[in-house]
Amino acid sequence: MTELVEKLYSTSDLSDSELKQLIETDDADTAEILRKRADEVRRRYYGTKVFLRGLIEISSYCKNDCLYCGIRRSNKDADRYRLDREQIMQCAEAGYELGFRTFVMQGGEDSYFTDDVMCGIISELREKYPDCAITLSLGERSSESYRRMKEAGADRYLLRHEAADSELYRSLHPAEMSLEHRKKCLFELKGLGYQVGAGFMVGAPNQTTENLISDLRFLQELQPHMIGIGPFVPHHCTPFADEKGGTL
Ligand code: SF4
Repeated sequence: MTELVEKLYSTSDLSDSELKQLIETDDADTAEILRKRADEVRRRYYGTKVFLRGLIEISSYCKNDCLYCGIRRSNKDADRYRLDREQIMQCAEAGYELGFRTFVMQGGEDSYFTDDVMCGIISELREKYPDCAITLSLGERSSESYRRMKEAGADRYLLRHEAADSELYRSLHPAEMSLEHRKKCLFELKGLGYQVGAGFMVGAPNQTTENLISDLRFLQELQPHMIGIGPFVPHHCTPFADEKGGTL
């Protein structure tokens, strides 16, 4: 196992069967060596600095119905709100005074935030805070929308792919959503010059080690600038309320 960790460290890759062994091992020594090597890589690129981001949650409305999500449209008990342009500017102002230099506007896929509305907000932020990065996390939109928001001044876009295996993706999302479209969005965003964040859930219902390997392979293909990996946490108002998570 140690050899596998060293191979991963020196070549940044393993075969699928080697990745499977490493992901499934419960050997504490291997986990510790892996942690140390990961920490070395982290320090090489980021040192010991902590980078703070100012998250502005602009809307809890969403037209989608992802089965794991607490703000899916079918959840009639969700507390819904959206911020208007003025409120978003107030958040940015308070954040700037506190020292934040990245604003992340994040929300569900809310049709209130049309391209015109978003471009107006982004341009105003860009003009007032030229020294700040503007990050968006607003889900799947048209290529035209991504292009306009980039031209208005956005720098980064976060869009986790969530599951790169099509069967698992289908089991977590409603029929009208597709993995192909999500991947297309991510490649478009990259092509437009955004710094792109992708990522996936760990422990999703019925997720297998092979599914996780698919996620890693997709990230190798996409080469995003940021990767977000988060645990599946069952939400009590979703069809997955009684799920405990996958096999991992
Ligand atoms: S698109 Fe995002 S916010 Fe909307 S239901 Fe899916 S996970 Fe939730």
